[in-house]
Amino acid sequence: MNKNNRYQQINWYPGHMFKSFKVINNHLKLMDVVFVLVDARIPKSSMNPDILKILNNKPTIILFNKMDLADPKNLNKWLKYYEELGFTCLAIDAQKGTNVDLIKETADSLLKDKLARMDAKGLKQRNFKTMVLGIPNVGKSTLINRLSEQRSTKVGNTPGLTKSKQWVKLANGFDLLDMPGVLWPKFELDIGYNLAITGAIKDNILPLDDIVNHLIKFMKKHYLTNLNERYNNEITKDMEFVEVLDTIGRLRGALLKGSEIDYDRVYQIILTDLRNNYLGRVSFDLIWKNLNKTYKNKILN
Ligand code: GDP
Repeated sequence: MNKNNRYQQINWYPGHMFKSFKVINNHLKLMDVVFVLVDARIPKSSMNPDILKILNNKPTIILFNKMDLADPKNLNKWLKYYEELGFTCLAIDAQKGTNVDLIKETADSLLKDKLARMDAKGLKQRNFKTMVLGIPNVGKSTLINRLSEQRSTKVGNTPGLTKSKQWVKLANGFDLLDMPGVLWPKFELDIGYNLAITGAIKDNILPLDDIVNHLIKFMKKHYLTNLNERYNNEITKDMEFVEVLDTIGRLRGALLKGSEIDYDRVYQIILTDLRNNYLGRVSFDLIWKNLNKTYKNKILN
């Protein structure tokens, strides 16, 4: 099958995408502040630019989750980039809780004008209503669970909302809608690879050999040392993809009968190594490579 035909078969959830935007939109008016989660390793690929347009003037905090997995230098550049575009940003690790306690402070500072106005009117400060948005697997539930750890009460159903959705009153001054808003990522091929590599989309949406090829090519170019720390210093920049697979297959004993390499196993070994963090802290959207005016226009206009 030729390559183009293979990609034409990809079905990219247009129905879901439409529905989830509608649901999110319906809840937005209730919110004081919205958290948009992106994967700190792929701050461009895991951001649905359309959401920033919908959020428009709604106070928004972009949370770069999984900071523990991202290349710190690259992550700092991305934080700076989005901040220069006018967004409030914070890097967090929702799993271990790093920086999660800074979220409230950040929201207070973002909403300080609103707070001052309430103060001036003699209004008592009420909890901020908030919701968590992001593509699948970015860590929405993990963050909600962590924020809810200090929960005092489930607030019950709010009129106008579907029965199953609950507000959770948090000790730190948020009322959190306990229903993560699922965004569907924009599907373009290079973005698709990044989403597959980081586990945001299932491995069977794109051909596995292409996903791993993309990963190896990228790692050889930008993170050769990481590859070599894991694979016995045997990978060189000039190796062809198949030579890299042969080397890793041999090293890890991924062999069919005789001494032939079992490529399917090698693909799994490489992806599992990456996802278990054995290839070190890596970022796949490199700011100095991928960013251009078109992207800026996409998220600002
Ligand atoms: P959701 O689909 O957006 O709700 O994502 P989940 O909360 O289910 O998280 C998806 C996976 O990412 C789970 O295996 C989490 O344990 C993991 N995860 C979430 N946050 C972090 C983080 O900050 N660091 C790391 N290393 N893993 C995380």
